[in-house]
Amino acid sequence: MRADLPIRADLPIRADLPIRADLHCHSSASDGTRPPAEVIRAAAAAGLDVLALTDHDTVAGVAEAAAALPPGLALLPGMELSCRRDGHSVHLLAYLFDPDHPELAEECRAIRASRVDRAREMLARLADLGAPVSWEQVTSIAGGGVVGRPHIARAMVAAGVVGSVRDAFTPEWIGSGGRAHVARYALDPAHAVALVRAAGGVSVLAHPLAATRGWLVPGRLITELALAGLRGVEVAHPDHDYPKREQLRTLAAQLGLVATGGSDDHGQLTGDRIGCETTSARDLDALLAGATGAAVLTG
Ligand SMILES: [Zn+2]
Ligand SMILES: [Zn+2]
Repeated sequence: MRADLPIRADLPIRADLPIRADLHCHSSASDGTRPPAEVIRAAAAAGLDVLALTDHDTVAGVAEAAAALPPGLALLPGMELSCRRDGHSVHLLAYLFDPDHPELAEECRAIRASRVDRAREMLARLADLGAPVSWEQVTSIAGGGVVGRPHIARAMVAAGVVGSVRDAFTPEWIGSGGRAHVARYALDPAHAVALVRAAGGVSVLAHPLAATRGWLVPGRLITELALAGLRGVEVAHPDHDYPKREQLRTLAAQLGLVATGGSDDHGQLTGDRIGCETTSARDLDALLAGATGAAVLTG
């Protein structure tokens, strides 16, 4: 743990001033379509003051993003950890952890390795279903980033198997539980929360009520994670309608969790939407209080 690094002193914000902070965004280091430097340019163009880069199970894009920072934009290093409970995938946003923490780094390596194995297995199943997509095509679309289902979906579109990425994420193809879907290694979410804490970071439960994901995270699991040290819950997310936001805001207040917001932008894949959801300065301040594993980066 690197407790000597300055954290909040670096943030160019005051809790009483309005700021625009998007705490959830992907680059080509995972399944976003934009390289990290381009993500930063898009964040600046969207008028953001703070952007968290939260690629899946990797911080590989942080250095390039940091090098591209213009004055006035702060980068919050983070990632979106792949977790699973009772067969359902749960995403955990983690910020300001020490990326070199041995167990956390090892778990991320294991998840990334398993993504490759499961991607190859899914391609084998697609071939069995008469829809061959080549590994070279998938890795060329991934461009060296962490291989994910969106890359396979895009390769399926390119091969003419389906008309759109959305059509690939169905029971017929690679949607959860689908004919060509293969589960991969993931962390138990309570263990992941503890691990992020051990690495000096803070964690936020991502999009718990996004119906598009086919499963809603039950309130009892959110309560369990809060007891395990979860710091916040993502309330403002494009896949949460207003009743869901209200429901989550109430739950967050009951459990003492910070309500955050983020665009979950993936570049072209989601429609360019960086900065469409944000977190208030007060909530950001509360979220990051006590995080000691890494520093907020500025240009
Ligand atoms: Zn997610
Ligand atoms: Zn995400």
